[in-house]
Amino acid sequence: MNYFDLPKIDLHCHLDGSVRPETIIALAAEQNITLPSNDIEEIRTLMIAPETCTDLGEYLQRFDLPLSVMQTAAGIERISFELFEDAAQENVKYLEVRFGPMLHLEQGLTLEQVFDSVVAGMKRAEAMYDIKGNYILSILRHMPKDRIKEVLDTAAKYLNDGIVAFDLAGGEAPGFCAEFVPYAEYAIEKGYRVTIHAGEQGVGQNVFDAVSLLGAERVGHGIHITGHEGAYDLVKAQNIALETCPSSNVQTKAVENLANHPVKAFYQDGIQITINTDNRTVSNTTMTDEVRKVMEEFNLNREDYFNIYNISIEHAFASDEVKQHLSTFSE
Ligand SMILES: [Zn+2]
Repeated sequence: MNYFDLPKIDLHCHLDGSVRPETIIALAAEQNITLPSNDIEEIRTLMIAPETCTDLGEYLQRFDLPLSVMQTAAGIERISFELFEDAAQENVKYLEVRFGPMLHLEQGLTLEQVFDSVVAGMKRAEAMYDIKGNYILSILRHMPKDRIKEVLDTAAKYLNDGIVAFDLAGGEAPGFCAEFVPYAEYAIEKGYRVTIHAGEQGVGQNVFDAVSLLGAERVGHGIHITGHEGAYDLVKAQNIALETCPSSNVQTKAVENLANHPVKAFYQDGIQITINTDNRTVSNTTMTDEVRKVMEEFNLNREDYFNIYNISIEHAFASDEVKQHLSTFSE
């Protein structure tokens, strides 16, 4: 099968984990930032996480370098544009990108400038290529909570016009959901959709909490519902979509290897699964690669692929008009 030509949808992709290494070097030069090296291969090596890391912490270190050049409006706009361009060029028809707004304020940008920049880059790509997109606000769980409402208020300028959802990301401690209930409620009141990273690192209860306490309609990863009957049943009963990211899960040791990934078992049991990249650069992957890996490892056929594609349409935080457009590529 020609995986490259298939129409694709990526619902779980981080902006800072998907920066072109060439762009890091170009932006560092423009911004007078000294990099550890100006050799493209060395920069690439510093940005790509090992195929298996010791843990999620080692994986997350790969974001420091890209974030250092994502502190200007022009730099963020360019990186946003290029991510949509890269995805469009491998037939991704719809892409939801998430990012941590608070990570881009180190050199004096305001939140509004950050939102203007990501959305402008996306819209520039949408005008040039056959791709549509939206942004998701990822709140980092370990950061202070005092500006979360300000993030949601400021981004509301683009609500349903470039920014659509609220997410919690970063290291996953057991029971993290309880302290974020007021923020998720506030986001929902304002009109944001909700997806939460949970059940990535072995805590099925976190998935149960993300759905029952925070109102998550989708869950980032969610693979550890396998060991938690309550979470599994809830995800199934409430038709919650899991944003699976197979390569990333192998790298962070969330699963031992691809063969042990529960994505096919979930699919066969009627769980709403989607296939996504997580981080195009840090995980050294593309949607074409993720689709190929899953289909080949688990012997899925074309009909299975389009079933999964349609699940992605159904659970995308996109307008009805965009969903209609995406369904024209279905078989
Ligand atoms: Zn993620």
